[in-house]
Amino acid sequence: MEDNVKKLIQYSAIKPTGSLTLGSYLGAIKNWCGLCSEYSSIFCIADMHSITIRMDPAVLRRNTLEQLAYYIASGLDPEKCIFYIQSHVHEHAELSWVLGCYSMFGELSRMTQFKDKSAKNADNINGGLFTYPVLMAADILLYNTDIVPVGEDQRQHVELCRDIANRFNGVYGETFKLPKAVLPKVGAKVMSLTEPDKKMSKSDDSDAGSILLKDTDEVIMRKFKRAVTDCETCVRFDAENKKGVSNLMAIYSCVTGKSFDEIEREFDGKGYGVFKPAVGEAVCDTLRPIREEANRILADKAYLESVYAEGARKASQIASRTLSKVYKKVGFVKKP
Ligand code: ATP
Ligand code: MG
Repeated sequence: MEDNVKKLIQYSAIKPTGSLTLGSYLGAIKNWCGLCSEYSSIFCIADMHSITIRMDPAVLRRNTLEQLAYYIASGLDPEKCIFYIQSHVHEHAELSWVLGCYSMFGELSRMTQFKDKSAKNADNINGGLFTYPVLMAADILLYNTDIVPVGEDQRQHVELCRDIANRFNGVYGETFKLPKAVLPKVGAKVMSLTEPDKKMSKSDDSDAGSILLKDTDEVIMRKFKRAVTDCETCVRFDAENKKGVSNLMAIYSCVTGKSFDEIEREFDGKGYGVFKPAVGEAVCDTLRPIREEANRILADKAYLESVYAEGARKASQIASRTLSKVYKKVGFVKKP
């Protein structure tokens, strides 16, 4: 990182609640890769965020390592980026407490994710689910972040993070840099293949509508062939009336670089029986090398450990500086 000191900082995280999906890849990770040469890059595996829903401990541990392997396999270079596991850097929990005192009940109640996840987990609407955006604000603000590359669904949380930072700066003077969400032009909201009204998510009960990065070619092809479309049989972009087809077009555009016009011309008069497998094949071609590389990396636990150990060391250095500054500003006596 030393030669990157003057670069602006990109920071992002994904929580290991399940296996990474094509949504995580197109909405977030692919964008991170594109920004790496221009920005100093810090990527977190947000295990603390994961326990806002009930997680089997063994699954959480496995997902955490798998996620790191997929970060690296996607082309992010551990020599150039900081990768760390959130629970290894205790400053996240500590800053989160302070920021919680500058976050309002009303604004937290209005967060779409809180409302959605509360509806989905009606028997477990816990405090962590409610204060999730506060911990996320702490994640971002600890690292003097300039940009946060995320999918559409996280835009609201990044905006709340700015509001919290602004409020704190208003009381104590310039402390936090105000971060900006950066979204991909296409792929910011990949929808479920079976329910194109719903976002593709890794914590969904069934993965029939989600393409997992670890799915085999065969599984990917089967899921695309079964993708919900409409009865018009015409490949045309119309996000309002042709949600399923438009979603497939967005996916195809992301993995091939083709524009919607080009795609419409390519499949003119060809129908969905040709279109759906073509999207499946293009996705297989993109994900196959990533999956193979991730499996190779996953087998080398010592290497993974060296990456997240070094990442935690570097992340802690930055985070502890920010937390000390905050503690001083709010009036906590310095620990001798
Ligand atoms: P969960 O179901 O546990 O909330 P998730 O699939 O929504 O999982 P997150 O960890 O919440 O994944 O989000 C990780 C990143 O991926 C965020 O930047 C988020 O905006 C992005 N992302 C998640 N799902 C999609 C999607 N369907 N399309 C585009 N981006 C997405
Ligand atoms: Mg999510």
